[in-house]
Amino acid sequence: MGPATGPVAKRPKRGRPPQSVKPEAVPSPASASPGSAAGAGNTEKKGSPGQRPVSTAVGLEDPGALECGSCSLPLKPEIYQCSEGHVVCSPCRDKLAPAGKCHVCGIATDLHRCHAMERLVKSIRIPCPNAAHGCGARLAYCDLDGHHQTCPHAPHRCPGKDCGFLGSTEALMDHFTGAHGWPSTTKISAFETHDICLYDGFNFLFAYCAEDDDHGTTTTATTTTTSRYLFLLNVTRQPFSCAITVHFIGRRSPSEVLRCVLSYSRVVYDPLEQQKFLVSHSLKSEINVECMDISNGLPGAANCFPFVVPNSGLGDHDKKDPIRLKACINIIS
Ligand SMILES: [Zn+2]
Ligand SMILES: [Zn+2]
Ligand SMILES: [Zn+2]
Ligand SMILES: [Zn+2]
Repeated sequence: MGPATGPVAKRPKRGRPPQSVKPEAVPSPASASPGSAAGAGNTEKKGSPGQRPVSTAVGLEDPGALECGSCSLPLKPEIYQCSEGHVVCSPCRDKLAPAGKCHVCGIATDLHRCHAMERLVKSIRIPCPNAAHGCGARLAYCDLDGHHQTCPHAPHRCPGKDCGFLGSTEALMDHFTGAHGWPSTTKISAFETHDICLYDGFNFLFAYCAEDDDHGTTTTATTTTTSRYLFLLNVTRQPFSCAITVHFIGRRSPSEVLRCVLSYSRVVYDPLEQQKFLVSHSLKSEINVECMDISNGLPGAANCFPFVVPNSGLGDHDKKDPIRLKACINIIS
């Protein structure tokens, strides 16, 4: 995605921890079937001999049945089992291998591939947990975790102090205006430099990036998918400067790096002699925007790099609310 502007400088420290997967989220009328193999249920109705139902509603009474017996994360191929049938994921198998015995029953055993369980976790389809927020994806159980971390419909918490509002990007933007009176929201396309106007306090920058089928990046209407990125730009006036911090609201792919380029420039001419050039100020910062939880307020000054414009460089109109800058969002993957 996007033009290659250099190697990935830094991977995100951490994403939001994946929510536990609840296979009972199967939306169709589920028929619980305890006692079936792996607890994954029997078919609700059986076809005539030699005939399989195309798809079948399946209920699961024990979500742990599809989790690794060692680390409790959702199972995904490759899956291994001991001679007694206790299953573990591949990373746990590597950790248990030196001990040479099963983590559950303690029997000395080699761990072998469990193809039946692999087939099961690949065949179970469940809706994205963000269906209520507009995601229509139905996912293989073993792919859920990967999708969940990058789902474009994942709700995010409002960064307002003591505000527990949780919603999609669009719902959040309505909430910012309606509940908090933060009116400054600017929509821009990624990779392009835009003039923006920032008011003292919270401002929101909504950057979108459309991708075509060739995985190139474009902003035309003929594209198929659009990624959306919501940033909070906080403007504070200091005694001798204006400081702006940039924060990302949401979740992004672990392979993506988000950069915000802010620039401020001013050319001063002699007020008495209009054509006489006096001085040119130009400030520019490219900020690597880390993914951090700002749902309970912004991080302290030590944890974010501010874009600072000294008052001596500000034009008269920018010394007062609002300040006018140029901004560009770059997405590197
Ligand atoms: Zn595991
Ligand atoms: Zn065992
Ligand atoms: Zn989704
Ligand atoms: Zn709020």
